[in-house]
Parts: sequence; C-alpha cells; structure tokens
Amino acid sequence: MSSNLNIKKRCEHCKNEFVAKTTKTRYCSLKCNSRHYKILHQQKSIKTIEKATELKLPPLEEINKKDFLTVKETAFILNMSVRTVYRLVAEKEINSYNFSIRKILIRRKDIDSYFDINLNGTNIDRDHLKKLITLENSYTINEVLKKYNISNGALYRILSRLEIPKKNFGKHVLVRKEDIDKIFVND
Ligand SMILES: [Zn+2]
Repeated sequence: MSSNLNIKKRCEHCKNEFVAKTTKTRYCSLKCNSRHYKILHQQKSIKTIEKATELKLPPLEEINKKDFLTVKETAFILNMSVRTVYRLVAEKEINSYNFSIRKILIRRKDIDSYFDINLNGTNIDRDHLKKLITLENSYTINEVLKKYNISNGALYRILSRLEIPKKNFGKHVLVRKEDIDKIFVND
C-alpha cells in the first residue's frame, strides 16, 4: 500500500487537525495516542468501581482477596447475572455452601475450577447442533462481546463450559442468539 497519502483528519484526543499518512491513523502524535489510551483505561476502571458501588459491593481488590464470595459478588466478577449464578448453584454446577436461602457462599476455588472443567463425555450430536446455527438466528462473537461487555477469554470459557455450539462462517464465529441470551439476560 502506498504510504504517500495525505489525509486531513481530526485527532481523537486533542481534536486538532492533522495530516495523516494512512486512513487508520487516529491521533496526531504518539503522545496523544498514549494519553487517550490512558483516559479510556481509567474510564473503564471507573465504570467497574461505579458498578460495584451501585450493587453495594466492596471494591474489586477486596472481593479478590476473599476466599468465600456471595452470589452477588460471584455474579459481579464473572460478569453474569445474579439469576445465572443462582441457577448454577441450584443445578449444583458450582459447589456452594448454603447456610440459608439468603446466605449462600461460594468458594473462590470452586469458581476457578468451574471454568477449568470441560466436560467432553456427552452424547450430543454436535453436527446436528451446528446445523441449527444460521446467519439469521446468530450473533458473531464480536457482537456478543459488545452486547454483554464481556472479555473474549471469559466468553470462550463460558462457551466451552456450557458446551454452546459454535460455527465458523468466513472469518466469523457464530453462536445462536437463543443460547447466548439465556446465559446473559439480566433479571
Ligand atoms: Zn492530538
């Protein structure tokens, strides 16, 4: 590709006009680029703090130090709905300590191992499940990441643990909306 392009653009950080060499350039300088990145990063962690406050949860660092977590805390760190965690507990998918209906505690260790186990011994007809995935009834992985604000790694752990069928379509990976919404839809 020619690098002799001269494109007038507006820097996404300082908002000044500059001449870019490629259509993909977003900042006038490296300095603006790294400053903007830092601000975005900060905003992200502020969002996490706000979410914890809104849910009346302790800060993330404190949750991370605990060996036993409440359902709410578990939902928060796994980026799942509280209902999903209750379902996992009820179906004994995640080991839990039930002192009473209002006092369910989940060991951090059990949360970690929950995502490490990958059940393979099931007799599900995978090809049949794949055939049920069509362009019309699916999300791409990227769409799921955006819609449910979850990291790629966390999503793949969940898909693998729950054995959600996926299908490659060109450079995209498709998953059925029905399968995904069931996991993430909020109360
Ligand atoms: Zn700039």
